[in-house]
Amino acid sequence: MIATAERVLAPGFWTDLLTWHVPAGGVVEAFQAIACSDQEGLVVPAAPRGVAVNLDVPGQSWCPGCLMLAQAK
Ligand SMILES: [Zn+2]
Repeated sequence: MIATAERVLAPGFWTDLLTWHVPAGGVVEAFQAIACSDQEGLVVPAAPRGVAVNLDVPGQSWCPGCLMLAQAK
């Protein structure tokens, strides 16, 4: 599943957390629409890449809404 990440700065941690979203519409560099929200998007999205639906990486997780969409495909 192609996904793009939102960087979430975790208070008290030195590493950012990544939350993966399914991109909606075209993939762009400036503002990335995401499948789980009509209003929200990623202002500085990470480059989209293939992400396993059963992602098991410390500090990374799927957005719950986008994970449901990803599993339905
Ligand atoms: Zn999402």
